[in-house]
Amino acid sequence: MNRLSLWMLRLILLAVLATTATAADFDYALKPRQIAEGTWVLLGRNEDFTFTNGGNIVNTAFVVTGAGVLVIDTGPSRLYGEQLRRAIAAITDESIVKALNTHHHPDHFLGNQAFPAQLISALPPAIRGIATEGRGFTDNLYRLSGDAMKGTEVVVPSQPIEPGEFSIGGHRFEAFSLDGHTASDLVIYDHTTGVLFAGDLVFNGRTPTTPHARIGRWLASLDRLDALAPRIVVPGHGEISELVGSNIGAISQTRNYLHWLESTLLRAAQRGLDMTEVMTLPLPPEVRGLAVIEPEFRRSVGHLYPAAEQDALAHPHQH
Ligand SMILES: [Zn+2]
Repeated sequence: MNRLSLWMLRLILLAVLATTATAADFDYALKPRQIAEGTWVLLGRNEDFTFTNGGNIVNTAFVVTGAGVLVIDTGPSRLYGEQLRRAIAAITDESIVKALNTHHHPDHFLGNQAFPAQLISALPPAIRGIATEGRGFTDNLYRLSGDAMKGTEVVVPSQPIEPGEFSIGGHRFEAFSLDGHTASDLVIYDHTTGVLFAGDLVFNGRTPTTPHARIGRWLASLDRLDALAPRIVVPGHGEISELVGSNIGAISQTRNYLHWLESTLLRAAQRGLDMTEVMTLPLPPEVRGLAVIEPEFRRSVGHLYPAAEQDALAHPHQH
């Protein structure tokens, strides 16, 4: 080997070392919590996306059925997905048989890369949403969550899921095709354990997000969820919620917030307030305790106020 090739070899080795020696990968410190037989959740923080939380503001879950693992949402990044897989492998030897995306928001599907593409499933409109809008969402999360997003790319689910019942191992599941948080919200009910995986139709302790919301549809979907009378609800964001009497706290809280948001915007529009005035309205005590209420309310005004103004024009006599 001549001097030049040796020199080249050293350069290549240095380059390899440099890539492997970069700062350790972001550690989400995922800790699955068992909430029912074979059923585990990984709760995210009730925050906005930040560099510190690496986008882990979302709940994911998995069910060990005896005939394979069902995963519900894959998290906000490739690294999250990989660490979720490791957390599952630390609990069970069963292989993953299905990974679902509840809807097309990035914190729920950007971990897809860590799972075999042929096992990733969602409702058809959500699949189309991920295919068309996924890239833009991903760019946005790179800006908001930094290093944790390293190497994350959109993987579009390949398996459309149909609403209806399906069984895996000892668990009888039912898939519901609902909407309101987005145009297509998948909900999974496990008849075997009474656990309802509600996706972002339900928030708990955190202000609901509304970039693609239709509040009337969302409220109708909440009625459907209440009617199931699930034993435990796993919301898309926030602590799990249990059935007490006939009430599920997180569902009532989400419903109350949406009612408040809808009526606040309509009344503001009837008074002729402009968008900036609405954004600075004082927040009443019943919503002030929700995490990230101020920025989330301002964003919701941006998303929903133009339609509220249209409504006010159509119904000028309601005061
Ligand atoms: Zn969402």
